Amino acid sequence: MKMGTTVAMTGLVAELTASLGDLVVTDGDIMIGYTRDQSLLSPAGRPTVVVRARSVDHVVTTLRIAHRYRVPVVTRGAGTGLAGGANAIDGCIVLSTEQMNRIIEIDGRARTATVECGVVNGDLASAAAERGLWYVPDPGSRAMSTIGGNLATNAGGPCCAKYGVTGDHAARIKAVLADGRIIHTGAETRKNVAGYNLTQLLVGSEGTLAVIVEATMRLRTRGPQTATVVASFGASDQAVDAVLSVRAVADPSLCEFMDHTTLSAVNAMTRMGLDETAAALLMIQCDGESAAAEAERCAQECRAAAATEVYMSADATESAALMQARSLALPALERRGSTLLDDLAVPVPRLHEMLDAIRGIAERHHLTIGTFGHAADGNLHPTIVFDAADPVAVERASLAFEEMIQDCLALGGSITGEHGVGDLKRPYLESMVGPVQAELMSQLKAVFDPAGILNPGRAF
Ligand SMILES: Cc1cc2nc3c(=O)[nH]c(=O)nc-3n(C[C@H](O)[C@H](O)[C@H](O)COP(=O)(O)OP(=O)(O)OC[C@H]3O[C@@H](n4cnc5c(N)ncnc54)[C@H](O)[C@@H]3O)c2cc1C
Repeated sequence: MKMGTTVAMTGLVAELTASLGDLVVTDGDIMIGYTRDQSLLSPAGRPTVVVRARSVDHVVTTLRIAHRYRVPVVTRGAGTGLAGGANAIDGCIVLSTEQMNRIIEIDGRARTATVECGVVNGDLASAAAERGLWYVPDPGSRAMSTIGGNLATNAGGPCCAKYGVTGDHAARIKAVLADGRIIHTGAETRKNVAGYNLTQLLVGSEGTLAVIVEATMRLRTRGPQTATVVASFGASDQAVDAVLSVRAVADPSLCEFMDHTTLSAVNAMTRMGLDETAAALLMIQCDGESAAAEAERCAQECRAAAATEVYMSADATESAALMQARSLALPALERRGSTLLDDLAVPVPRLHEMLDAIRGIAERHHLTIGTFGHAADGNLHPTIVFDAADPVAVERASLAFEEMIQDCLALGGSITGEHGVGDLKRPYLESMVGPVQAELMSQLKAVFDPAGILNPGRAF
């Protein structure tokens, strides 16, 4: 580090500490816990300082000082991201929002919840449930990830099949711009077409446009009924056929896919007794007043698509236990080695081709790839299992990862369905959106953050 830079950094830390006291952390041992998210292959730098904000004022103060010093700011929720978006950048301020965890209001009549950005998704869901309401977005990380992080990545989850992704439930966002100014986007009205939709621009912006500090999220009512169908297939093509025909006759709240590699890893971990003779498994859930009848229609379509076994349950506890199997897919694969989890979305009718491509890549590179995902959204998580200590295996895994992205693009898919661009997918963004849109995105970034301090080098 140059002398001038060192002096500036000392000044930065002194100013932050004078304004924010013990919210400012410089102890290397503590800071290490704030440098990485859950993405294995993304690089992480060393922050100058971590600020553990507790209020909007703390965020404003941090950004004003950072802006004056032109120091990068990496906003961090729970750090469960899978694209390296919350990884520290050398010399940056990591702005942690984990202590901004107040549920400000749940308004039963408006069916909204206003929360600070660090509220954990599952805590909001529980608080809403206590009022008989339902906070729908359900990423697999819901016990840990924050509403701010969910909005910044536009997180999805199984329920998106019927109810949409996090952004579809956002009514208003309060955010702090790079220079410390505050904006309130959106409206609590159901309809609002006044001006550009800045709420949806902030959704999925991965900490590059503003720091989301509060949000008003929409809640729903939920009937108690659910019914679940678990169907095994001798070939994954048959499972995809079933997904396509189920979508033609029903509107399941979720429709999850697991291939043989994944389900046998789940069995090994849980002894759940999933059908290990199956090449693929579908878990379909229907909800609402006609859940049981709708699930029966789904079961019929699975049988028509040559399912070898179809099991149906209308019992809520048993349904939850069955869904647990799917939620353990990643931890189960992680027990077999280091994992490189991908997140690709293809048009649903092209799922066959994507699954074929993944199988071909696994064979060509002699790799184990377990594939699971949200079949009704065409959103797959092919997960490469490899030995991270072996440089040859790392290279093969990286190559396979790249090839899966190229195949996905060739099928008209998206390089990320729900995890975000972050650091991991940035090299592929332009090949997906083209040079004109890539330039527009950079220009938009410059409008919001002319000094380029917010998560620079990430996403756009
Ligand atoms: C076991 C597991 C299961 C998962 N399942 C799913 C799933 O089903 N669906 C899914 O979509 N994802 C899933 N994820 C990925 C991850 O949980 C989501 O991306 C989540 O939304 C990240 O939230 P976070 O609070 O951890 O954010 P972080 O990881 O801390 O940050 C993610 C990004 O958002 C930015 N950010 C965070 N907070 C703010 C804020 N307040 N303002 C502005 N920018 C901010 C960060 O800078 C970073 O770019 C899973 C992860 C794990 C580990």
